[in-house]
Amino acid sequence: MAKREVVYSTCKSCHGGCGVKVTKEDGVIVHIEGNPNSLTGGTMCSKGLSSIQHVDNPYRLKYPMKQVGKKGSGKWKRISWDEALDTIEAKMRDAIDNYGAHTIAISQGTGRGYNRYTHRLARSLGTANIITPGYVCHSPRLGLYGLVTGYGRLYCDYHGWGGEFPKTNIVWAKQLEISSADSEMCYWFMKSLDYCKNFIVIDPRASAYATRATLWIQPRPGSDCALAMGMMNVIIEEELWDKEFVEKWTFGFDELRERVKDFTPEKVSDICWIPKEQIIEAARMWAIDTPGCIQVGSSLERQANCGHTLRAITCLMGLAGNIERPGSMISWVLPETGLIEDVFLELP
Ligand code: SF4
Repeated sequence: MAKREVVYSTCKSCHGGCGVKVTKEDGVIVHIEGNPNSLTGGTMCSKGLSSIQHVDNPYRLKYPMKQVGKKGSGKWKRISWDEALDTIEAKMRDAIDNYGAHTIAISQGTGRGYNRYTHRLARSLGTANIITPGYVCHSPRLGLYGLVTGYGRLYCDYHGWGGEFPKTNIVWAKQLEISSADSEMCYWFMKSLDYCKNFIVIDPRASAYATRATLWIQPRPGSDCALAMGMMNVIIEEELWDKEFVEKWTFGFDELRERVKDFTPEKVSDICWIPKEQIIEAARMWAIDTPGCIQVGSSLERQANCGHTLRAITCLMGLAGNIERPGSMISWVLPETGLIEDVFLELP
């Protein structure tokens, strides 16, 4: 009879980390499911659930392979790790000696915990030419959050660990359950909806969430910055901003008031192709029913005006006092979540 064994582990099919329960028979994985006694409560996305197919895939790359036929011929032979490393080192030395370190470019896929090492490798070689998906996904928001608030990591506090859940939840161009590599957050997000009064979906597409939304806004793609400015216009015109927070923690309010003056609901309605009533309604919900969170999607980071869009959205958070209070956008990480991988802390 086959020897059955259950191993508790963590999924790394994205850079998330859902708790998983892996069943093996005679050392071979036969089943993967979520671990109910983990932070993600036994939930997994379809990608994680199907990761057993990666392990068994006959085309999975397990060893260094060297091309032996013509490029494109599909002819490869297995080589040792020593030979692979020696070959790479020789080519890198040749490039550095003859053309300069900058001629070496390093690219990588989304991080699985090794990001810090590829950056270190690039710096050790002396090349600035390193590219990761992070440059158009997540890093822009870290940069802009940092620019506006002084700290780059702001996350939605869906957990209720601080005693409050978000009363207004905005999901802006994001589909946590499908397209996000952070979809382990989906579990907490879905739970937080039970406590939320206003659920606003801002997305031109009919996302799965849109059917559950209190308010679904479909702006013209690329007009998100104007929408954020319009919401701030309403909040300021109607005197709805969090006076205490703005007074105590911000500067530049008068300049912001002046800047958003022109972005009336009528004007923003024309820019975004949405009814002005939606802009007013969203602004009121966001400013009145606090605390609240804005979950930002990476599609906002792939726009030409990504910087200003994220900057405006961060100001919108601050206007409603939705920064650093339970149930809002938070930068602290509770011990239960463990250490977050932080490439920025890894600078040599
Ligand atoms: S979100 Fe999906 S892929 Fe990512 S860790 Fe969880 S189960 Fe794995």
